[in-house]
Order: sequence, then structure tokens, then C-alpha cells
Amino acid sequence: MSKKMLEVKNLNFHYGEIHALQGISLDVSEGEIVTLIGGNGAGKTTTLRSISGLLGKITSGEIYFMGQRIDGLKPHTIASMGLAQCLEGRHVFGNLTVKENLMMGSYNRKDKDGIKEDLDYVYGLFPRLKEREKQSARTLSGGEQQMLAVGRALMQKPKLIMMDEPSLGLAPLVIKEIFEIIKTINKDGIAILLVEQNSKAALQIAHRGYVIETGHIVTSGSAKDLINDETIQASYLGKK
Ligand code: ATP
Repeated sequence: MSKKMLEVKNLNFHYGEIHALQGISLDVSEGEIVTLIGGNGAGKTTTLRSISGLLGKITSGEIYFMGQRIDGLKPHTIASMGLAQCLEGRHVFGNLTVKENLMMGSYNRKDKDGIKEDLDYVYGLFPRLKEREKQSARTLSGGEQQMLAVGRALMQKPKLIMMDEPSLGLAPLVIKEIFEIIKTINKDGIAILLVEQNSKAALQIAHRGYVIETGHIVTSGSAKDLINDETIQASYLGKK
């Protein structure tokens, strides 16, 4: 069995009085695409942001990355260990150019040759970003901004990328393109934790999945089993 990269054990998180995460446990192994699906307000984003350290102190539980405990560490420390979070495309820096946005991803790296190589890799994946490298990010389409957000995460040279709803607000064809790219990135050796409301598209590319409802994991299993599960089809895949 391949090695576990990310392990979340019994994670609880409160926003003041609101008990948003109520004992979340999940893991991602080397080589995997794992998806976390669920409806509005279920706790998907809170799970990702707790892992990446963006929410500060968790209420209780343990989070490990590459065997090291990471809960309580600062977001930049967690990122520099190889755990990247790709925020929604809307979070690109609109006033900076495409290339400047990408270089922001590599700001704490010193390996100039590696950075150049990774920039070429990103431009290979997204030729449109190369064509628009001097354009300010604000002028990109929604899909291109999402690609830029993925590209920026790749410039950190991560071992695992957590993605928060990469399909949000995009047209079906663009969604297809982004999901193909996620598959390619994964084949190139990067593990993915994918949060999605677009459950069908996510389960089609994932190896495994977890279903979250009001702060609890209610079901988990292979993506294939989840797609064929009638309860999940009725609740999340739009089938009756
Ligand atoms: P969506 O897909 O709608 O973004 P989600 O599954 O990502 O939903 P979260 O954003 O993680 O859900 O929210 C989980 C719960 O925590 C919700 O009940 C939400 O109202 C609450 N919540 C989220 N952010 C805050 C906040 N900053 N302050 C208080 N409550 C919050």
C-alpha cells in the first residue's frame, strides 16, 4: 500500500459557538486524487483551511503531513513543507501580470533552475497563460484565472495540492479542461485533495471520496463505489 501523505484525525473546529467540523477524519496517500464532496455549508472549505493553517488554532484533533504534525503551524511553514492550497481563481492578484502571479508561488524558493523548469511546466500545461504572460490577471476570463490559481500552486513545487472548488462558476467545457489538467498533474506525481460541489465531475477523476454533511463524514469509499451508490446518486449526483 502506498504511503499516507496527509492524515486528519478527529478534527474539530469552531467558529465561536458554531461547531463547524465535528470529528473529521480523512487521509490522502501518495499518487491519489481524493475528493471531499458535500452541499452548501457542510464544512468543505473549513476542512481545507484548517489543514492549511489559515484558520489558526483548531479546537481538537491531529493533522499530519508526511508524518509530521502540522496543526498549530503557520500557513507559510505548512506550505513550505510541500502542502499547497489552491484558492479559488478569484484570489489571483488582479493588478499583477500572469507571470508575476506565477512567480508569487515560488517566492520562498531559491532554486533558480528549478523555478524556471516549473514555469515551463506550467506554461506547457496552460499554453494560454504563456500567451498572456504579460497581461494583468484582472483581464483574464474566469477559466483562465482558475488556471492561473492552479499554476501558482504548482510554482510552490508541492507534493500535495488542496483545491477548493476549481469548477465554481465555469462553463462546462472549461470545467472539463480543468479536470483533465488535474488528472495530468496527478499523473505527474502530485497528490490532490479536491473539494467540490460538482460531485459528479469530481468522482469521475478521483480515486476515493468522502461525503461531508454538517461537519461529519457520513460516507467514504472508492470513487467507483460512491458513483454507484443510490443514496449518493439521489443526494449529490442529480439522479432520482
Ligand atoms: P460551500 O460549498 O457553501 O462553501 P462548505 O462546505 O465549504 O460550503 P464551510 O464554508 O466550510 O462550508 O462552512 C461550514 C459551516 O461553518 C457553515 O455552517 C458556515 O455557515 C460556517 N462558517 C463558515 N465560515 C464562517 C465564519 N467565518 N464565521 C462563522 N461561521 C462560519
